[in-house]
Amino acid sequence: MQPVVEFANVTKSYGNVTAVDELNLRIEAGKFVTLLGPSGCGKSTTLRMLGGFEIPSSGRIMLAGKDVTRLPPNKRNVNIVFQDYALFPHMDVARNIAFGLELQGKSSDAIHRRVMELLELVQLQGYSRRFPSELSGGQRQRVALMRALAPDPQVLLLDEPLSALDAKLRQQMQIELKAIQERTGKTFLFVTHDQEEALTMSDTIVVMNEGRVEQMGDPKTLYSRPQSVFVANFIGDANLLKARIVGGDDTRMALTWNGTPVEAAATGRRAQPGDPVCIVLRPESIECSTSPLAGANSIPGKIRQRVFKGNHTSMLVEIADGSRLMALVHPTDIDSLSGEDVWVRPAGA
Ligand code: ADP
Repeated sequence: MQPVVEFANVTKSYGNVTAVDELNLRIEAGKFVTLLGPSGCGKSTTLRMLGGFEIPSSGRIMLAGKDVTRLPPNKRNVNIVFQDYALFPHMDVARNIAFGLELQGKSSDAIHRRVMELLELVQLQGYSRRFPSELSGGQRQRVALMRALAPDPQVLLLDEPLSALDAKLRQQMQIELKAIQERTGKTFLFVTHDQEEALTMSDTIVVMNEGRVEQMGDPKTLYSRPQSVFVANFIGDANLLKARIVGGDDTRMALTWNGTPVEAAATGRRAQPGDPVCIVLRPESIECSTSPLAGANSIPGKIRQRVFKGNHTSMLVEIADGSRLMALVHPTDIDSLSGEDVWVRPAGA
């Protein structure tokens, strides 16, 4: 299937800073796709190049099969929503949403129908005559979003649009944004440095690092099968153990960690016996017990710290080689883990 967006070997340099480095990326239509990565990794530059606000130094950008690399913003069918969501303060809600449609020269009947349809989509039917100053923060965001969607762009670009909101409203808007994307079936390309936000909304997450794609996939795969230490650390909390490959096949790997044999799921990357690997242990995937656990991978340790977090307790366990593992313990299990001695094991191993 032809992707709606394709970056082919796209590089963008500013003087001697390479913001985006030979980026290759294909985005399927109708998906919620998030560019995720630390500040400065090239997310916004990527988005701005697709919007036409920056011209790549080299490479090609395709939109629905058409080369748009050098087209100005108004000649390509994408729309962008920025962080501040600025609405026109002197225009009411209906006129704000109608703005792009008027530029397109649509008839007033067609504009009216489209505005009503969009207001219904976000349950703001009764608000068409209100001015931005008469709306709550969340309502203003919905209107700004509808203004951007009104001209029916092929891709809606969203550059950290929720970062200025307080935590509660931010969570509500995440759910709502995802629902709007599903209802409209539009392709959303969203930029954030917040992994939780990315996990909540995305069909596909593109993890970026230093101007390149580090790994791309659905949230569950990225979380459970990170292919690099960078991704393991950036998405969720990770305990990392340095080990070496002894053998294995495409699905399981036999490893040795600190002289102890360990079995782990394969990452899909080609590896040879003797290669160094990092075992990623998620805190919630560590079983803890006051006596040795049956089967393989039972590791003795000492409990160094317990931190009560309401719906779980975070426990810091020091193991034989001196490294410390963070384990997440359910409230019903914590009372049985009194004392210092503990055995830990990756759940399901
Ligand atoms: P992100 O969105 O991931 O925080 P950006 O795409 O904004 O990252 O920036 C990537 C890199 O390019 C950073 O090192 C940034 O300083 C640099 N950069 C971005 N825009 C410009 C510009 N207009 N001029 C010079 N350097 C820039």
